[in-house]
Amino acid sequence: MRFDLITIFPEFFAGPLDYGIVRRAREAGLVEIHVQDLREFTKDRHKTVDDRPFGGGEGMVLKPEPLFEAVEKLLGHGVGDASERVAPEPSTAIVLMSAAGRLFTQETARRFANLERLILICGRYEGVDERVAEHLATEEISVGDYVLSGGELPAAIVVDAVTRLLPGALGNEASAENESFRELSPGGVTSAVNHRLTSGARLLLDYPHYTRPSDFRGWKVPEVLIGGNHAEVAKWRSLQAEEKTRRNRPDLFPR
Ligand code: SAH
Repeated sequence: MRFDLITIFPEFFAGPLDYGIVRRAREAGLVEIHVQDLREFTKDRHKTVDDRPFGGGEGMVLKPEPLFEAVEKLLGHGVGDASERVAPEPSTAIVLMSAAGRLFTQETARRFANLERLILICGRYEGVDERVAEHLATEEISVGDYVLSGGELPAAIVVDAVTRLLPGALGNEASAENESFRELSPGGVTSAVNHRLTSGARLLLDYPHYTRPSDFRGWKVPEVLIGGNHAEVAKWRSLQAEEKTRRNRPDLFPR
């Protein structure tokens, strides 16, 4: 899978994508990550990427021309204009990072993991000329209900969440199935532990994990985890996951 990150701060990504699972996935050739400097697509001496907002107001807005041209160069073809729009390839998503976008979830990550290519556009300043969202991007994505100062951290989040879902990215293939936000079948059966839940939660958070020492400052690891009864362990984990989801994320339960 190939990721292209379009940004005015290309150096930003040296670091966030160089560790752990993402690094190994790059080294193994599972993913290719290209960083595209937006300023290369400016035509003036000052490499201007932004301009003042029509209608007045604070701040600057990223201009459409360099963003369209950057994406077109990456695609290898034009995307058209108001009189004729060239349809995007279904195996490629062109994603505008935006606080005003649709929420990025584990389900979005799973959908992206099935594509061949993700082009991620990182905004800055007050944001991006709306024609990018309307006529260039195939979707507009937010990583959460808060405003960041740029789309680079959100883009790194998307790359990370998608990469770890690619077959072979995690050392242990099973580990992606047992994580938080796994999908439950309609009856509420967790495939991980095969234990029927009464709750009907849409998604379940991970169960609590413990390691040695079994007694740390008097705080003991739950007895059942030490007993070696796998069925009991599975049942306990399932109930704990449900309990923790209720406590931390009541919104995941239908009302
Ligand atoms: N004026 C905008 C915020 C601009 S922040 C608003 O109120 O919605 C500058 C850039 O940071 C945005 O263009 C976007 O690319 C990025 N950004 C900020 N918060 C984000 C979020 N929650 N998710 C994804 N991108 C975000």
